[in-house]
Parts: sequence; C-alpha cells; structure tokens
Amino acid sequence: HLPTAELQALDAAHHMHPFTTGAELAAKGARVITRARGVWLTDSEGQEILDAMAGLWCVNVGYGRKDLAAVAARQIEELTYYNTFFQTTHVPAIALAAKLAELAPGDLNHVFFAGSGSEANDTNIRMVRHYWAMKGKPEKTVIISRKNGYHGSTMGGASLGGMAGMHAQGGLPIPGIVHIDQPHWYAEGGDMTPEDFGLARARQLEEKILELGEDKVAAFIGEPIQGAGGVIVPPATYWPEIQRICDKYQILLIADEVITGFGRTGNWFGSQTVGIRPHIMTIAKGLSSGYVPIGGSIVCDEVAEVIGSGEFNHGYTYSGHPVAAAVALANLQILQDEKIVDHVRDVAHPYLAEKWQALTDHPLVGEAQLVGLMGSVALTPDKARRTAFAEPGAVGYRCRERCFANNLVMRHVGDRMIISPPLVIRPEDIDVLIARARKSLDETYTALKA
Ligand code: PLP
Repeated sequence: HLPTAELQALDAAHHMHPFTTGAELAAKGARVITRARGVWLTDSEGQEILDAMAGLWCVNVGYGRKDLAAVAARQIEELTYYNTFFQTTHVPAIALAAKLAELAPGDLNHVFFAGSGSEANDTNIRMVRHYWAMKGKPEKTVIISRKNGYHGSTMGGASLGGMAGMHAQGGLPIPGIVHIDQPHWYAEGGDMTPEDFGLARARQLEEKILELGEDKVAAFIGEPIQGAGGVIVPPATYWPEIQRICDKYQILLIADEVITGFGRTGNWFGSQTVGIRPHIMTIAKGLSSGYVPIGGSIVCDEVAEVIGSGEFNHGYTYSGHPVAAAVALANLQILQDEKIVDHVRDVAHPYLAEKWQALTDHPLVGEAQLVGLMGSVALTPDKARRTAFAEPGAVGYRCRERCFANNLVMRHVGDRMIISPPLVIRPEDIDVLIARARKSLDETYTALKA
C-alpha cells in the first residue's frame, strides 16, 4: 500500500470519521491499522499494538479467525443475500434465531434482526410503542432512559442515549424519551454510601413514572453496566430496585446488551450478572465478534405474541442477512465450544482483577472497577474527595495519547480510562496491558506535574 503519510493525507482529505475532529486528523493524521491477530493490531509502520478495547468492544473471539472467514466465504457462494420480508426466510436466519433463543435466559425466545445496535434500538422504540397500542393503550409511549447512557447514533438510538453532546447536534431527543440520572456513585454519590445512592438513583425511575403517570410510560431502557459512559458499575442495590419498579408499574424493561452480551461480564448476558429479567434485549457487537455487521432485539414470548398478532410495519434490507447470520452463528458456536465465557471468569478473577485494583496505588487513580472483562479507572486530582480536574477530560485525553504512543489501545471517557479487551486475552497479554497502562499513567502524571 501507499506510504503512511500519503494514506493519512488521503484519509484527512476524503474520509469523514465518527467522533473525531478535523483538527485532530489534520494535526497528526489517523493511525492506519493494516492487520490484526488475536488481541494484537499491526499498523502501517509495522508497530504491534495491544488492543485492550476489542475494536469498539466487539471482537470477543479475537481477530483473524480463519474458521469465520471460511463460513463467510461459503455462505456468500451458497446464498449471498435474501431478505426475510413478506413470508420468506432462509436457513442462517432460522438457525441463528433458534440459537439465540437457546442462549438467552427466561422466555426471551424471539429475535428481530437489524444491522447494528443503533438500528435494533430504533426497532425497540417502535416495538414497545406498537405493543402498547396493540394492547389498547396507545397513550403508553414514553421511554425512560438515563443520562450518560449510550444506545447508538441514529435519531432513535441517540435520543435514548443520554449524551448531552449528541443531543446538542440534530435537535435530540425525539419526543417521548426522557432521562433520569445515572447510578454513577464515584462522580455523583457525594457523601452517600454506594448502597443508598444506588437505591436513590433507581427510585428516580419511580418518581418519573408517578410524575408522568404510569398510563403514559411504555418502557425503561438501560445498559446493565454503562459502557461508553465510562464503564460505570452500578451499586449492587440499583438493578434489583429497578426490576421491582418495572414489575410494580408494568413497565417493559429493555436491557441494552450491545456491549454486555456474549460473555463480556463473565456470563452470556449482563442481565444475568446484575440479576434482571428484561422483556427485550438489544444485541450487536459480540454477536458476530465484529466480523460482520449484525444486531437485533431478543424479545420475550408475550411481547412477540402481541407484535406477531398483526403486521409490524418495520424491517431493514439487511434484517437477518444470511452472511452475517451464518458468521454470527459460527461465532456463538466458538464462544460455546471453546468455553470462552468460562475463560472470561477465569482470567478476570483474580488474575486481572488484582492487577487492575492495584492501579489504585497510582497517584492519579481514585478507583478501579472491573466486571468480567470490562473495566475502568477514574483519574482524579484528589483521591480522598473524588474531585474532578479543572478541565474535565483533558487528563484522560492525554493519558489515552500516552497509551497509544506506548502501543496500547485504551479509551478515555472524560477522565475515566477504560478497557474491554477481546475475551480470548491470555494472562501474558494482561501483563503487557498492565505494564503499558502503568507506564502511560506515569507519563501522564509526570507531564501534569511539570
Ligand atoms: N448500545 C450500546 C450499549 C452500545 O454500546 C452501542 C455502541 O457502542 C450501541 C447501542 C450502538 O451500536 P452500533 O454502533 O452497532 O449501532
């Protein structure tokens, strides 16, 4: 291929990047990733980079598996494309839906496919509103979500999300979506115990339902563990209280499992880790380990029965795309056959957990959280008071840059540094991850003191 500088110049001239400023691209160009195997990326300069983010939290089985490439090639030859509209179907979509019904807990037995997590959440908005309309309650339309939650970038997904910066662009949220506060004890818990804080934040759901009227509320949506918001693990009191409130007021519970699904938290689904029983789960990312784009909604018996009793005027050209479905099915088989969900538990606790927790001895690190293989550390100028930096996000950005320079992909969300590596990460890779993270924290601290 072309030399790196030429690729970067073409990229800056013609390629519009998500979540990147033009100034950043013009200043130093984007790093060009050319190849990947397991948990390792290679860039156009031949540097080997440890990917502690699994791309965008998605490459659960690791990069470069030839068996998945073979499945894709075979399926392209066999049946490249066909749709699932108007009473047609095909074997890959049937097999994948049946497999998901087998893996998903409770009576989550039905799947509506989409091309991504954002599209699946758009499906969910329409599905829960249509469900209540079919039940004779068309006024039940409001969906309650959380500030700093992330549910995608489409108009619906970004509206469900609670990211102020995203709402500011494009006139969001769309009508009928409201947000309550997030269960982020470290940043917002003040003097409360985490347990009391978790209860108080969950009870905001009840307050919001009573304020709006329970006859107006269709559903509550949340990520079992907030990912893009900064890997925020809620206090243990939070989800049981949310479940109690949803049960009491008969509000549909949607668990957005786009990150937490398919082993990330040490169970097949994050809902199992936090102990909830959703009516609908949003899935994407780890469903195919990012090898092909695919997402969907796993739906419980009752909701599926009501929706299926008429025609649901909704669907995507690529709903259940045969190549994506075949690869996703093979990916799930790999997760199962190679006992990768068990591996997550084995490698996370205590091996990674001890080393991750030990980062709190660093002068910049105020807390460390880890569930399965998703973790975060909070950077703070004052550990005792859990204060924020004067310019929120600047230190996190600098730390991410140091990580990148040290050939480690870690992301920053404000001043939280986060990881979500491929689930196949080995102990020896974890040693490299921790060593590079420490070095990057040291360099960030030294620069801050200079
Ligand atoms: N929901 C959650 C929890 C996510 O983390 C994401 C993406 O990061 C999405 C939805 C959107 O998924 P996609 O980017 O596939 O549209």
